[in-house]
Amino acid sequence: ASGSDDNDVVVIGGGPGGYVAAIKAAQLGLKTTCIEKRGALGGTCLNVGCIPSKALLHSSHMYHEAVHAFPNHGVKFSQLEVDLPAMMAQKDKAVSGLTRGIEGLFKKNKVNYVKGYGKFAAPNEISVETLEGGNTVIKGKNIIIATGSDVKSLPGVTIDEKKIVSSTGALALSEIPKKLVVIGAGYIGLEMGSVWGRLGSEVTVVEFASDIVPTMDGEVRKQFQRMLEKQKMKFMLKTKVVGVDTSGSAVKLTLEPAAGGEQTTLEADVVLVSEPAAGGEQTTLEADVVLVSAGRTPFTAGLGLDAIGVETDKLGRIPVDHQFMTNVKGVYAIGDVIPGPMLAHKAEEDGVACVEFIAGKEGHVDYDLVPGVVYTHPEVASVGKTEEQVKAAGVAYRVGKFPFMANSRAKAIDDAEGLVKILAEKETDKILGVHIMAPNAGELIHEAVLAMQYGASSEDIARTCHAHPTMSEAVKEAAMATYDKPIHM
Ligand code: FAD
Repeated sequence: ASGSDDNDVVVIGGGPGGYVAAIKAAQLGLKTTCIEKRGALGGTCLNVGCIPSKALLHSSHMYHEAVHAFPNHGVKFSQLEVDLPAMMAQKDKAVSGLTRGIEGLFKKNKVNYVKGYGKFAAPNEISVETLEGGNTVIKGKNIIIATGSDVKSLPGVTIDEKKIVSSTGALALSEIPKKLVVIGAGYIGLEMGSVWGRLGSEVTVVEFASDIVPTMDGEVRKQFQRMLEKQKMKFMLKTKVVGVDTSGSAVKLTLEPAAGGEQTTLEADVVLVSEPAAGGEQTTLEADVVLVSAGRTPFTAGLGLDAIGVETDKLGRIPVDHQFMTNVKGVYAIGDVIPGPMLAHKAEEDGVACVEFIAGKEGHVDYDLVPGVVYTHPEVASVGKTEEQVKAAGVAYRVGKFPFMANSRAKAIDDAEGLVKILAEKETDKILGVHIMAPNAGELIHEAVLAMQYGASSEDIARTCHAHPTMSEAVKEAAMATYDKPIHM
């Protein structure tokens, strides 16, 4: 790392926050170094998160479709099997190709890449224990902390990545477990549960709270849960894990109803597995593999924040001002390590805006319009407010809905589960939130994100010509239903 003493920007961490910030900084003409300890760029997202999970979700979906959907389309075959090592190899190929791609982008943009563990020696000086061995010091006028997040464990549960796995282990199982228990019904748990469920595992999701994916619109969540149950995923809500016994060949979990629980809006509609809830008694559940997906925690271990006085909050996150600066001048933070949704695209937005401020420009991230997607099948995607949030804010609103059962393309391909739901302000028709459950909801949502970014009304979407036959027409029809009537319902 010689010649890097005069860096304008040093980024610690090469995840979607850090590598994007580094490339953008270099593009703005700033001399930039990025330090990454993993030996590969792309962070959690590319190596053990978004990308490998989407690879396995796609592969397992293909198998599931072959079994359950192909016959309906008149496609017959005599033998079908899962070759798990080949499936894993395709996932690994996707990951390694993409990480090398980022290295290529670093070269192209002249970002200096240092492989090693960075630690603050001073507010503008990072001491790096390099992966090759030895130490080097990297100095910079501005330092960006982009060290991301790590798996959060549960008290009394030791992750061995074999029987008790985190999402990282769940992305690399060497066998399809007969019984998989997922602790935590957030999107990561549901996605990984879907992968293994499609490949044949019996999946039970244990969740402390009364709802799955708490950030989801309640009405959509209800349909989503029903759909997952149709796919044979079992749910034990308001249930906590109080003991884990790994001494036998199967893991034994001891469960208890979660006392008090949280507010619930769903109770009457949800099929709760009744055993654990009865009379506050303990029950046990056996599994070959237990996936702990009870959230993630900001990662700042070994970074030496204390040495330079960077503050963290109760949850270990680094508070920043609107320019992403920490309480120490010249030291910035972005991505999973700061407050806000722990999502790759949010980290990328942070990275670009932070660097724009450093370069003396204006940066901007609209945190109200960060889309969220659960990549199950169908997918669930949303942007803006849920109906519960709109109600709580006391805003008068209208709802427009359109089911994919009435969408010609969805019917043509026989994949018509789901709906589009649009919430708009009653008086002005301004769109407040959009929620979509559909096979490719994660792509469909961006029409709504863009519309909302421009402050559109639902009528603006409804009067925009949409190609036929497409799933996107359901968005147009839901928009029509918001202020008037849809055509096809
Ligand atoms: P990270 O990606 O965590 O990167 C931080 C990097 O910093 C790491 O590579 C780490 O090695 C490095 N580092 C840390 N400390 C140091 C140090 N001291 N010195 C040098 N290097 C250091 N998000 C989505 O938006 N969509 C999805 O579909 C999605 N799926 C996910 C699936 C799973 C299974 C998981 C676990 C996460 C998923 N996420 C998804 C979340 C997403 O991965 C994170 O939000 C995103 O990676 C955060 O980016 P980041 O740059 O802040 O941190």
